[in-house]
Amino acid sequence: MMNFFWKENHMIYVKIHYNRYYIFKDLVIMIKLIEKLIIIEVKKLKRFDERDHMFSRMNYKKGTKEYEDYYKRHPELKNIDDDLREMPELGGEGTVTFSNINSPIINANFRFLSDIKELSEGNINEVKQEIDVEKMNFKLKELAQIYGSDLIGICEMKEEFYYSHRGRESKHYGNKIKKFHKYGIVFAVELKKDFIMRAPQLPEAIATVKGYTDVGIIGMILSYYIRELGYDARNHMDGNYLAIAPLVAVEAGLGELGRSGLLVTKEFGPRVRLGIVTTDMPLTPDGKIDFGLQKFCEECGLCARTCPGKSISKTSKEMVDGVLRWKINMEECYRRWRSLGTDCGICLCNCPFSMGIEINKIDRIKTNPEIINDIIKEYKDEYGVRPIIRTKLPIEE
Ligand code: SF4
Ligand code: SF4
Repeated sequence: MMNFFWKENHMIYVKIHYNRYYIFKDLVIMIKLIEKLIIIEVKKLKRFDERDHMFSRMNYKKGTKEYEDYYKRHPELKNIDDDLREMPELGGEGTVTFSNINSPIINANFRFLSDIKELSEGNINEVKQEIDVEKMNFKLKELAQIYGSDLIGICEMKEEFYYSHRGRESKHYGNKIKKFHKYGIVFAVELKKDFIMRAPQLPEAIATVKGYTDVGIIGMILSYYIRELGYDARNHMDGNYLAIAPLVAVEAGLGELGRSGLLVTKEFGPRVRLGIVTTDMPLTPDGKIDFGLQKFCEECGLCARTCPGKSISKTSKEMVDGVLRWKINMEECYRRWRSLGTDCGICLCNCPFSMGIEINKIDRIKTNPEIINDIIKEYKDEYGVRPIIRTKLPIEE
């Protein structure tokens, strides 16, 4: 082992073990020891390109300029994506869960969200109000709660939280994202437990789309209010996110990223949906939290074992696009969605944190890692492989 300092934009203190990765601020340090040679690679963390998002890719129709451009740059994905596009739509006829009366609840939400998403940006009141930063922090959190937010935090935005380019809509395809607000307000709504426990049946998707609708509306109210006070603000909501919500949520202390690639909160596990408002209004950031989830996920792995798409890594973290994380196979996950007709959601309901773990036990994970196995055992004793409710809800009748 050896210690040294490396300096460019940041002073970095590195402890060398063999063949390890280290992440400091926005840099990734990769260290390999080959015989007596130490190789150090320093990379800036890569911003995710929204054009690579599964939902963006599914919008590229044959014959369009997006289709031609994207698959010229990614020929390896062309056959996979062509094949996926041939499958029935989410909530569509031909999917396993299709119901001509109930499936349209999903589309009704998405159509509504699509109609309002153009309101995510708007005019700023020319009269700028003086604000007390601490009082405003409190007021924004209160307002979000009044409108239905269950968790809320504030952080300073980093460039890598924003997508590098837009990809969801033809009119914005390939546009670089250059405007960065300094602060992010991120909020989560809990998804109904008894709906999610019916995953992958329709109630799971009904709860999920309701979550998108709820955070979309909360974000609208917050962003309209901030602009009313004379500061710029933008609502990031379904179909119109410029920033990656789980990254912002981690920074604002709402939770940590789990093996499933989802934000895991102490209160509701991954059973939440997230919205963001970014703004230039001065605010005070909340800190990140570390309740020992990384260690917990190493031991647990329940989501990887029960995922029908085998999309969640069963092994250790790997370096993916400059980030050390558990690998997710987006294509295989999405294939299940298109065949089921819902967004599956089994990984939302089979996480012990989703079903509720006493806070005093969570708070002991870091100091007493033995408790992890007790929590997993209690969960398995109660739910077996995974919790599931098979009876129908009244809304399905
Ligand atoms: S949504 Fe379903 S298929 Fe996708 S990762 Fe979760 S459990 Fe696997
Ligand atoms: S199911 Fe287990 S491994 Fe997966 S995210 Fe939850 S705690 Fe982590």
